[in-house]
Amino acid sequence: MSAAFTQVATPYGPRFVRAVGWRFNNLTPRGVIYGLPLHDAYTPPAECVKPSMMRCDSHTVPGADCDCGHRLVVNLRDLTQYESGCRYDSYLWGAARSKALAERGDGDHRIVLRVAAELDTPLHGRALVDPPSTLRAGRLVTLHGYVRRRDARLASLVRGQYPFPVTVLDGDDFAGVPAT
Ligand SMILES: [Zn+2]
Repeated sequence: MSAAFTQVATPYGPRFVRAVGWRFNNLTPRGVIYGLPLHDAYTPPAECVKPSMMRCDSHTVPGADCDCGHRLVVNLRDLTQYESGCRYDSYLWGAARSKALAERGDGDHRIVLRVAAELDTPLHGRALVDPPSTLRAGRLVTLHGYVRRRDARLASLVRGQYPFPVTVLDGDDFAGVPAT
């Protein structure tokens, strides 16, 4: 696991974290990020996705042998490779939701979030279908957002509704997301 016990700047001040990485989230045409409460950089605590009989104890989400948890990849290349693969076969990274939104005519609006798992956050490795450097976390704090040039209009809407900085990338893909 990279970046163990690093200190990072969050919208709420410096925090010690166990991991730093990236993830995709879907955006509405109004600049609302799916999975993040408005005006908040923290995800809600992750919940187990299994049927209730098999569910993880709420204190141990994400479970070791489970699919639950908020995803991040610690290797940026895993994120861009996933993007270029156009993976719509998985419920991960909001892919299924992107497809549903695109089919509904809402467009494919996405944001790359740089995120961190704080020291007290439960953390596990990837589940079977995840890209290689995936970690599953109980809760994530968002440090920065990146949108493609075609979604530049949405950047100011996102900035007005969330406490972290948002950068508009030069291109219409996510290749320009910085590695640090
Ligand atoms: Zn679980």
